[in-house]
Amino acid sequence: MGKIKLPQPISAGLMLSYQCNANCHHCMYACSPRWKDWISEEEIKLLLTILAEKIEPNPSGKSSVSLNCGLHFTGGEPFLNFDLLLKAVQMARQLDIPSTFVETNCYWCLDNTGTKQKLEALKEGGLQGILISVNPFYLEYVPFERTERCIKIASEVFAYNTMVYQQEYYYRFKELGIKARLPLEEYLKLEQGDLVKNVELFLMGRASYKLQKFYTKHPPDYFLNEPCLPPLVRNWHNHFDNYGNWIPGYCGGISLGNWHDLDRLCKQGLDLDEQPVLGFLIKQDFAGLIDYSRNFGYEVPREGYISKCHLCVDIRRYLTTKQEFKELKPNEFYSQL
Ligand code: SF4
Ligand code: SF4
Repeated sequence: MGKIKLPQPISAGLMLSYQCNANCHHCMYACSPRWKDWISEEEIKLLLTILAEKIEPNPSGKSSVSLNCGLHFTGGEPFLNFDLLLKAVQMARQLDIPSTFVETNCYWCLDNTGTKQKLEALKEGGLQGILISVNPFYLEYVPFERTERCIKIASEVFAYNTMVYQQEYYYRFKELGIKARLPLEEYLKLEQGDLVKNVELFLMGRASYKLQKFYTKHPPDYFLNEPCLPPLVRNWHNHFDNYGNWIPGYCGGISLGNWHDLDRLCKQGLDLDEQPVLGFLIKQDFAGLIDYSRNFGYEVPREGYISKCHLCVDIRRYLTTKQEFKELKPNEFYSQL
């Protein structure tokens, strides 16, 4: 399969841990309370030092933020280890990394005072913005009044650097008068069964299994000519996890290599002959991947797949039960789907 060079990342997400208070149906990285490990302070410093010269600011300036620019702190749920998050933010400031923000599901916003204290501490530590997650899957775990509180106070602390993803759901929940948690089934009753209402949703990671009943399945041929969008190898919005994995974009469970070797990987390239699964994915040869997995006994499910990413993760999950693949990491991702 040969070698492929990896572009230097110009924006990134630092995954402090896969641990989360929630276990959302749509989680791309299969996070949950069952994960226990967190990145160490030494490793944060090492990663940020590697990334510092590479991360580019948001086009509107280094103090502004946007989803695919700069550096974000994420998980899992980073506020589960607030002290570590704060230290990471302070290190990023020392290294002059631009356009930093944190991503949260707001579970921790129990009252106004505590919420404000934490957000102000992060701002003083050098954080420039925040991304607040809103959709019916978080709503199963986080009372909406906490999300509202976070948005209100974050808007005071971070002003226009407060991003809400997805605003459509925020306004919809307010319209519906939701305040507490709501099981997905109850939410669907309110929406007459319409889950997504034309809002962006990636059918990958855990969604491939947990959301099957809402989508039509297709045989593999249906997806073979569909490109990975966004492309697997790209310089923006890559993730770097606490186990040393360089995760391409939103593709949980795939490792481009160890981020400790990032500079070498960018200069010398990846040897795809040593990582056949990655080779098929990068070359977009999904027919080849299916054939390859058949050698291990994989059988295409008769009912098909709901998305190309479902096909991809289903094969990868199967392969990890047969052999160790260094490009399919972390291992636990596959048991947490
Ligand atoms: S989607 Fe976010 S809140 Fe939900 S389990 Fe994953 S990391 Fe946690
Ligand atoms: S098909 Fe696989 S490699 Fe492509 S975007 Fe989906 S999860 Fe990533």
